[in-house]
Amino acid sequence: MSLDKNVQEINKKVAFLKSKSGSHSPSIDTFLQEIPEIKIDVDACFLSNPYATDLFLTYLKNDLIDTNKLRDVLEYYPPQNYAVADYISKAIGTPAKNIFVTNGAIEAIQAVLHNFLAKKICVVIPTFSSYYEFIKPHQEVVYYPLTKENDFKIVVNDYIAFVEQHKPDTIVLINPNNPNGGYLSKQDIFDVVEKLSWVKNIIIDESFIHFAYEDDELSQITAEELMHKFENIIIIKSMSKDFGIAGIRAGYAIMNEKRIGQLLSNGYLWNVSGLANYFFKIYCQPEFIRQYNIVRKKYIMNTQMFLSQLAAIEKIKIYPSKANFALIELLEPGITSFDFCMNLLVNYGVYVRDCSDKIGLNGEFIRVASRSFEDNLTIIDAIKNAVK
Ligand SMILES: *Cc1c(COP(=O)(O)O)cnc(C)c1O
Repeated sequence: MSLDKNVQEINKKVAFLKSKSGSHSPSIDTFLQEIPEIKIDVDACFLSNPYATDLFLTYLKNDLIDTNKLRDVLEYYPPQNYAVADYISKAIGTPAKNIFVTNGAIEAIQAVLHNFLAKKICVVIPTFSSYYEFIKPHQEVVYYPLTKENDFKIVVNDYIAFVEQHKPDTIVLINPNNPNGGYLSKQDIFDVVEKLSWVKNIIIDESFIHFAYEDDELSQITAEELMHKFENIIIIKSMSKDFGIAGIRAGYAIMNEKRIGQLLSNGYLWNVSGLANYFFKIYCQPEFIRQYNIVRKKYIMNTQMFLSQLAAIEKIKIYPSKANFALIELLEPGITSFDFCMNLLVNYGVYVRDCSDKIGLNGEFIRVASRSFEDNLTIIDAIKNAVK
């Protein structure tokens, strides 16, 4: 690696900035801003399939750039929500009236919480923070804690009892969960929904579901069809991680048509960009999906290998994951997750997520994403050296 001499200089600057900031370290992002010489070789913070990004770029080049049609996509207004929902309907076989197309999953989360959450939401922690950050001051959050003693697994009966005790009007399950990758089988999800069908809003966030598997063929899984049986189900879908296209902001939610009518009647006009619309156009092309499934499975297999290589490293503990990342606990006494992440970044050019800001994690934790095959080798080497 070409870092060497600079590394000492950068380490000095890091130490200086840290000494200035008192008992709390500034975030790694702050360091990246303050010390622009820090070079990221592998971004293992970001949780997407890089092979799917390559595939999308090939399509984009052939369909829009080489044909000069990109101009139209940028110059004209994109179609409205219901028209884009038609493409998605073709792709997933759910009626268009049940599809609410959004500017990334995050807009669906915001729309659902701001319009349907009444008083009390139950979230599982650790979690994706928007689910408790987007609530209003008069609303209450109850946290269902996952514990490391139990490998951050949801124990279905225990979870159901917790919800029955606290009686929230809204519950959220992220499957697989971010940041630990814990997975509930389709059967478990079904059981939870059936027993808790009295809850007004049941949100299931499937942002990482394309990386999970239940059979040897790695077939795609989804709980979308539950919406037909239970009208309180809301399924959130992000395209950012599965398809590696966070920058174009494509997502949708599946829910009862009355709710969608309510949302579209007072907003969300042209919330889907021309590029996201282009993505949904190819999303319903069988040939694109056939090629996508090849890179999806390749990435899952790379990830399985990556997770087992991580598990073999001493002085760290990997928690079970069926997502494309792993939550790792640092077991060496005296090492903080912040220092470990800075060390990986400055000395090895590998950027991983420091989880010290995640509520519900007791100990020193980092989250590491699986990237391309070559990048994963770099990440493994860096972590092996950093724990020494
Ligand atoms: C990344 C993420 C989102 C947001 O996805 P976008 O489609 O990029 O807005 C939503 N939920 C979870 C659990 C995520 O990790």
